[in-house]
Amino acid sequence: NKQVILRDYVSGFPKESDMNVVDSTIILNLPQGSNDVVLLKNLYLSCDPYLRIFMAKDTIAGLGGLTPGSPLTGLGVSKVVESGHPDYKKDDLVWGITNWEEYSLVPAAQILFKIEHTDVPLSYYTGILGMPGMTAYAGFFEVGSPKKGENVFVSAASGAVGQLVGQFAKLHGCYVVGSAGSKEKVDLLKNKFGYDEAFNYKEEPDLNAALKRYFPEGIDIYFENVGGKTLDAVLLNMKLHGRIPVCGMISQYNLTQPEGVTNLAHIIYKRIRMEGFAVFEYYHLYTKFLEFMLPLIREGKVVYVEDIAEGLENGPAALVGLFSGQNVGKQVVVVAHE
Ligand code: NDP
Repeated sequence: NKQVILRDYVSGFPKESDMNVVDSTIILNLPQGSNDVVLLKNLYLSCDPYLRIFMAKDTIAGLGGLTPGSPLTGLGVSKVVESGHPDYKKDDLVWGITNWEEYSLVPAAQILFKIEHTDVPLSYYTGILGMPGMTAYAGFFEVGSPKKGENVFVSAASGAVGQLVGQFAKLHGCYVVGSAGSKEKVDLLKNKFGYDEAFNYKEEPDLNAALKRYFPEGIDIYFENVGGKTLDAVLLNMKLHGRIPVCGMISQYNLTQPEGVTNLAHIIYKRIRMEGFAVFEYYHLYTKFLEFMLPLIREGKVVYVEDIAEGLENGPAALVGLFSGQNVGKQVVVVAHE
């Protein structure tokens, strides 16, 4: 059973060498008579920025964490091999919390959803039909309260969450601009995801000036994925009663000393609603979300770009790559193709 083990707690930028890929000889068996454990064959694992937060020694209270010497734990798509739980049977496809290894014994409660629709790629349940998809949906529609015709700005705009927020905003009749970290990503934003405008934030010496160029009348909704300097510049460009759904702040996760944000007073001047949210508080909307998302995928009205790393041994590099923007689209690790 090949596994990706966290060697030690991480501080600063994560490195491939913070993880070890090992072959465990322990044979996993369902404990006799247990009715709440499931043996899974893992197929696709999701590389998510929050895993870096969980790798720290002092992780945020109530948000869980990873344990040095144990496999990484994260979201994935798996096939049930054996089940002691009445809700799951052999060959069921599921997505939920599993371990970074070929086979996992997990409490059935860690399974979030059974996969019923298999006419779409199964890997989509790590992204557009999984946690990042729900994040974009809840963050944009529930927290952002968008109205037709509003001006929307998205950072990390080509990523797992960002590419969907941009497309949702267009479907909703908004004007949408995205920022990303390379020319390739900027091209994707404009030519594939339908953003009205896009720019490479690494090539903008003055983010405030760049935002003024794209939003002469200001921003109604800023979908926050990165924090730091981008947030500071956005605050200067928000419209009255603008909204900032705070999804993530990836630019801050690896800093031992977080950057200061100097323009917070604009929250008062512009009466901005800035609201942090966590996707797991919105999973009750999952059925509604699927009803919204599946037809859009089937009719080609929403597209999805994935960055696929083949093999568990390439998992550490794929995960670490999120923090230098190596991934183009949703970063997935393939453990097995069914
Ligand atoms: P992405 O697929 O967008 O991958 C991460 C991207 O972040 C990279 O490709 C890179 O893109 C960008 N990035 C990395 N470092 C920096 C930096 N220093 N400054 C600016 N951009 C940077 O990831 P996700 O879509 O999965 O996640 C996006 C955000 O959403 C993250 O902040 C994540 O923590 C958050 N999130 C929050 C959830 C919630 O429940 N609140 C749930 C899921 C995600 P580029 O090349 O453009 O720089």
